[in-house]
Amino acid sequence: MSKVAVVTGGTRGIGEAICIALKEAGFFVAANYAGNDDSARGFTERTGIKAYKWDVGDFEACKAGLKQVEEDLGIIDIVVNNAGITRDSMLHKMEFEQWHEAINVNLNSMYYMTKPIIDEMRARGHGRIINISSINGQKGQMGQTNYSAAKAGVIGFTKALAQEVARKGITVNCICPGYIDTDMVSAVPEKVLESIVSNIPVGRLGQAEEIAAMVAFLVSEQAAFITGSVMTINGGQYIAN
Ligand code: NDP
Repeated sequence: MSKVAVVTGGTRGIGEAICIALKEAGFFVAANYAGNDDSARGFTERTGIKAYKWDVGDFEACKAGLKQVEEDLGIIDIVVNNAGITRDSMLHKMEFEQWHEAINVNLNSMYYMTKPIIDEMRARGHGRIINISSINGQKGQMGQTNYSAAKAGVIGFTKALAQEVARKGITVNCICPGYIDTDMVSAVPEKVLESIVSNIPVGRLGQAEEIAAMVAFLVSEQAAFITGSVMTINGGQYIAN
């Protein structure tokens, strides 16, 4: 079995924690990022993990990026589709670009990143695909029709693909984090954040490492019977299923 993992949006936040957890679990990890070279450099200095720049919202760029990773590290066995963005606005004020960018980076990227490697995984009879959705894809969030729709789409993609590839030894699962202490959440205005935290039963934001620990488990051989699952990790804020 190959031990190569690709983590999109791997240089910051939840993605960085996932990269570290997979490296600690013995995988060769490639971290993808969009364009923030300074943060990618800092990430590589901290972790010793190489960062690869491409836009997960660009199919040709994904194909080229994945090819480069395979040339450098070997056949990819694990894909963690973690990169995501918000482009928040109430629908009546939402520009076309805000809608399109959120759908493209959060949802179209599932196809762009998975299609190029799925044949290889099917042929080998092994693979692990983990998609990062969101609590807001489960419950919907005012001001995020674009993001909520994309993240709900990630759940549907996960469940459908899991059924297609189950007999080929490939598992496909998705994680729905609640509010996690990363740059994405720091961008939320302080007053809004206070009210969000007051609605989290455990009384705090989640930590990126708490999501990474679930990824490390889902890629392990002990998790071979888990597929098509939606892992809800949100401190009790929204109790789904
Ligand atoms: P951050 O904003 O902290 O980090 C985002 C990462 O994604 C960066 O590495 C960034 O690269 C990369 N990225 C962004 N756009 C692209 C792109 N088009 N192509 C390639 N890489 C890209 O995000 P979080 O760690 O907070 O979130 C990670 C995932 O978890 C996202 O999918 C998010 O929607 C989801 N999530 C997060 C929650 C939270 O509370 N933080 C809650 C629920 C879900 P660069 O540094 O170059 O910009």
